[in-house]
This record gives sequence, structure tokens and C-alpha cells, in this order.
Amino acid sequence: MSFVDGEWREASGTPIAVTDPASGEEIASVPSATAAEVGDALDAARRAQREWSRLPATTRGDHLRAIAGVFADHREALADSLVREVGKPKAQALGEVEFAIGFLRYNADWDRRIEGEILPGDVPGEVIHLLRAPVGVVGAICPWNFPLAVLCRKIAPALLTGNTVVAKPSEVTPLTTLHAFRLVAEHAPLPPGVLNLVTGGRETGAALVADPRTSMVSFTGHRDTGKSVMATAAERLTRVSLELGGKAPAIVWRDADLDLAVASIVDARHFNAGQVCTSAERVLVHESIVDDFTGRYVAAVEALRVGHPSGEVDVGPMVSAAQHRKTSAALETALREGATVLTGGGTATVDGYAGGYWFTPTVLGGVRPGMSVMTEETFGPVTPIYPVADLDEALAIANDSRYGLSAYIFSRDYGTVMRTVDDLDFGEIYINRTLGESVHAHHAGFKESGIGGEDGKWGLLRYTQIKTAYHHFG
Ligand code: NAD
Repeated sequence: MSFVDGEWREASGTPIAVTDPASGEEIASVPSATAAEVGDALDAARRAQREWSRLPATTRGDHLRAIAGVFADHREALADSLVREVGKPKAQALGEVEFAIGFLRYNADWDRRIEGEILPGDVPGEVIHLLRAPVGVVGAICPWNFPLAVLCRKIAPALLTGNTVVAKPSEVTPLTTLHAFRLVAEHAPLPPGVLNLVTGGRETGAALVADPRTSMVSFTGHRDTGKSVMATAAERLTRVSLELGGKAPAIVWRDADLDLAVASIVDARHFNAGQVCTSAERVLVHESIVDDFTGRYVAAVEALRVGHPSGEVDVGPMVSAAQHRKTSAALETALREGATVLTGGGTATVDGYAGGYWFTPTVLGGVRPGMSVMTEETFGPVTPIYPVADLDEALAIANDSRYGLSAYIFSRDYGTVMRTVDDLDFGEIYINRTLGESVHAHHAGFKESGIGGEDGKWGLLRYTQIKTAYHHFG
């Protein structure tokens, strides 16, 4: 299914099944756009781009505000769609809709705030004028874990700055994106060609990246996919912004507020069934409090309500059989390498939903730095806890990762916190709290967690390029 040039079109590539994670049943089948159909969407976006960029920025901002209003009016339906295809609990799904609306409203408010510069010339009778020009056509490629929020995180700054967009949702969760596009087309239409949609999986995404009509790729997804996107983009020097995976360490220091640390880390590990790039993936606890922390952590994990995401639950199913297999394999490897299960232990059952992708929240002891559960993204509800003797050791283990997205520190000591912020090689550090990001901050991974970054002023300006004009009047 494609939305191109202001109209819906059938895509002719292979259909891909969408499953309900709670039951494992197929709920839809969505066709894939072929490379030629991706090209049609890019043509439409190219045709629309110059006129769109010539509109007053306030008009573009008004369009984003209108879309935000429509999403707010339909927040329940959008959240229900997220519950259905992602399997995230309803309260979290409503939170995602608000997050998405936040990106639209925040970026809309930049409409009168993007500034250029005027410099004195080096020769008599000259001034130099630096202005922010759009990049052109942005290919926005989204993952399955936050389909609506990540879509809006990309399209809002791209459109506000005068770019047009061809978006591609994940083939695992395309339904909320289709729903959102229907709402926009019906209640807050943009000029034809400004915002286009193509559905499909890897091949459709790869076609969008490889096409010379794409000026920039804004990609969120797996590290290895990001590398392949960058390699393809390099052939034409197409710009990329890559938001990739993470292996967030949570450091709990001896002076931490333990109630706060336990509640926050349990939340950060189990939100969206642990399928969040900023999830607390490994917990490093000062050895003097590790027994107390672990006892409380295990009790809090055992109190989590696992069940159908439309109910009052804390943890829903994992999104797909593939993700369930991946987390199960990571757990098996950890056990083979010597980890011990403190609670949980793998596949769960939920009455009435035998076919769902349920995973019992699991806590591991007996882990060591270097084990894959301490270095590779697990992306599921498995928490390894490791005792550390001093801050040097904690920081060295935390940094011993090819990822560098988010990190957490729980301490009341100023020096400990400042040293941690200074020494951690991570793009986003949270002190005495965990999830989530603010729309006006900056979300970016160091090392193999990405390149570029989103949100706030710096994320917005990434969708622009600086044009210089020398005004010689002498
Ligand atoms: P994925 O890389 O499998 O897929 C992401 C998107 O890329 C999908 O739309 C997919 O169809 C498309 N795609 C696949 N192959 C492609 C190719 N060769 N060229 C172009 N597009 C291609 O990732 P996923 O499984 O959907 O998402 C989970 C991953 O995303 C995790 O690693 C997670 O940490 C990461 N993630 C990161 C952030 C962040 O902000 N840093 C946010 C959410 C998720």
C-alpha cells in the first residue's frame, strides 16, 4: 500500500503478513512497494519539494500543528492500533501517541526560529549571508518498536525545514502508520507529494536508500542494517542519520536511593517488553549493596503483571516470533556461559493466548563482563546484574561495548555523578532516572549506536544544509 502524490495506490510487490503478537494470528497482509513504485513516490516528493520549501515556514508549522491536532483527536484509536500490532500495553501506547504529538508540536514551533548568519566580507563592498536550506527529499525508514513516535520524530523536523518525505514503516508493524496516513489524508491534508508512504520490508527500504532521488536517509533500526544503509548511501554520498541499537548500562552506586533505582531500572528494562533502544540492558551495582539491590529487584520483577496488552498489565508479548527467538537464544547463551537464573527463565504462557510471543521477565546472576549478555543487545526482558568494586571498574565495564546510546547512574554524590557523566562514552546519560527522552533534547548514539542524531535544535538542523551567498555590491 502506498500513499503517493496525495492518493492511495496498491503496491504490487510481495505481500507481508502482520501478526497479532498476543495470539500469533495473522491480522493483515500488506503488499510491498517495488523499486519502481518507490521511484514513483520519490518523483512525487521531488516535484513537490521546491514549492513546499517556498511556503512561509509558519504555513509548514501550521500543517504540523493540524496533524498533531488530528492525532490528538484520534489518540485512542491510534493507541489501540499500537496495542494490536506491537503488543505494548495500552498505557504505553497512549504514551507513544503523546510522544508523537510532542514531536509534531515541538518542531512546528521552530517555524519562526531558524536563523541564518550575516558575516562581514573580506573585501570592501561585500557581505556574506549563510542560510539554512532544506536537504531535498528525505527517506524516513522506521523500526517496529515505536512506529508512530519514530515516524513523527523524523517527518516533523524534515517537513518543517522544507524537505519532502517518503516514509517506510517496518514490515512488522505497518498498520498504525497506514492509519496515521489515512487520518492525515482525510483531516489534515498536505499538498500532494509532500508526505508519501511506501510499505514493504528490506527490499523496499534498500530501494529507497539506493535511489539517487533520495537526498537523505533518516534511519532507525538495527546496527547491522544501519551499516548496510550507510554503505549503500556512500555510493552517492547520500546523507544519513542513523539511530541504531544500544546496550545501556545502569550503574547503581552505594549511596543510591535504592527504591528509586529499583523502580526506575525495572521500568527501563521491561517497558515495551524490553524492546527499546534505551532499555537498561545490564546493571552494575556497587558490591556493598548488591545483595540488597538484587533482592528488591527480583521482588519487583516478580510483581510485574504479564498479560494481554489491552488489559491492566506491565508487560505484553514480544513483537514477533523472531524477536522471541532472538531473546530466548541470548538467554540460552548466557546460561551456557555460566549465568544463573534468579527469577523467570524464558517462554511464558498467558491463559487464552497460547500462540502469543510471551517471555517471562528474567533476572540473571553469575554473569561476567565479556559474556554476550553483557555486550550484545538482548532486546527483551532479561536483566543481568553484576557487582562492581569501585567506580573505575564500573565505568570501564560500562564503556566496554561497541554501543554508546544511553546510560544510567543512580547516586546522590555529586562527584560520582560528574565523574560518570565525564567518563561514559554514551550520547545520552540519565542521572537518577531512566526513560524517556525529551523532544527538545538530543537523542544520538556514540560509537556503533549511530551517526547523526535526532530531536531538539540539533536534530532539526540535521535536515538542513548551509548555503552561503556572497553579496558583492562594491
Ligand atoms: P531493522 O534494522 O531490522 O529494521 C528497521 C527498518 O529498516 C525496517 O523498516 C526495515 O524494513 C528496514 N530495512 C531492513 N533492511 C534494510 C535495508 N537493507 N535497507 C534499508 N532499510 C532496511 O530494525 P528493527 O528490528 O525494526 O528495530 C529494532 C532495532 O532498532 C534495535 O536494534 C533497536 O535498538 C533499534 N532502535 C533504535 C532506536 C534509536 O533511536 N536509536 C529506536 C528504536 C529502535
